[in-house]
Amino acid sequence: MLRIRAGVVFPVTAPPIEDGAVLVGADGRIAAVGPHARVPAPREAERLEFPGAILTPGLVNVHTHLELTHLAGRNGEKDFVKWIARVRELKEATPPEEFLAAAERGLRDCWGRGVTCIAETGSTGAAMEALVRFGGRGIVFQEVFGPSPAQVATSMAELEQQVLRLRRLATSQRRVGVSPHAPYTVSESLFRRVARFAQQDGLPLAVHLAESQEESELIRYGAGPFAESLRARGIAVEPHHCSPVQYLRELGVLRPGTLAIHCVQVDDADMQTLKTNRVAVAHCPRSNRAHAHGWAPISAVRDAGIPVGIGTDSVASVPDLDVWAEARVSWFGADEALRLLTLDGARALGWERDIGSLETGKAGDLAVFAHSPPHRLPPPPAALLTVVGGRIVHRA
Ligand SMILES: [Zn+2]
Repeated sequence: MLRIRAGVVFPVTAPPIEDGAVLVGADGRIAAVGPHARVPAPREAERLEFPGAILTPGLVNVHTHLELTHLAGRNGEKDFVKWIARVRELKEATPPEEFLAAAERGLRDCWGRGVTCIAETGSTGAAMEALVRFGGRGIVFQEVFGPSPAQVATSMAELEQQVLRLRRLATSQRRVGVSPHAPYTVSESLFRRVARFAQQDGLPLAVHLAESQEESELIRYGAGPFAESLRARGIAVEPHHCSPVQYLRELGVLRPGTLAIHCVQVDDADMQTLKTNRVAVAHCPRSNRAHAHGWAPISAVRDAGIPVGIGTDSVASVPDLDVWAEARVSWFGADEALRLLTLDGARALGWERDIGSLETGKAGDLAVFAHSPPHRLPPPPAALLTVVGGRIVHRA
């Protein structure tokens, strides 16, 4: 049992509580939230007090590649198409154990920032192993690639095998999904097969979508640098005369719970399609800015009623895993940022019944941040304390 008292408690689904406290039961779930004087203090509970600090639900980072943490600062390509190719080369040159070390460092970094839930897209399963080893919460989307229709059988066999392996490690705190990487690395037939597999097996799906103008050019006109590089590899490219969002809808990839990562190049019709198909969006503004993709029309996406969470993407794209910085560059106010980083993030991952706010019965995932001036949002990025399922995973 754990009882934490803080200067202000932000439940997110209720107004902030001055001199508040949270009691997490032995089952790892929140047993009480409220003013300090009204929250029980059982003798067996470990008691922690942070008078000048704020306590929030654990933060949710809806898009990471923690297995690539070792690539920080190692990809200097300015051009996005070349940058993607360079990531592939760097990954191929990475020994397997280094992915695990990278994922472990990435996970600890997240915890140090009050992030208690990550949504990883990765090909190695390293993030899942890190979650198991350290007892974290997250969803791991197993990536699958294959731009040539000739690769479908091999890619599917590998995907099914990896998913089987990850599923043995899954619990209520660790989920498994699939991620056909992106429209420029996955063939039409592979998209259809992965979508069908996900549907049949009840697996959530994440996909990088509508990220760059080069991707739109490839899908709409069968032209541009992605088309050229595919043709250079002997892969046929056809124009589809539509946006990437419409293309994936046609292929059956956009289904309830699908997480569309980036969604920078979207128009009103695309937003309507995302909404109708109950797709959620992972907003990664600093990554989009770093690659000069432009700004996602995120206010319009949210106004359309599409669930949006905030993701950092990998440290190969951004300087660090600071989710507050992501909210800041998008000009969200502090209260809105907190909501995006907690309950909205949880909703984007279909996890809002369990996490994202401080409510009795929800998982004991929370973070404590110091702040000066005290009691105000947003806090500095470093957390004083991070708790996952009632267990302290980080203490400054
Ligand atoms: Zn990504």
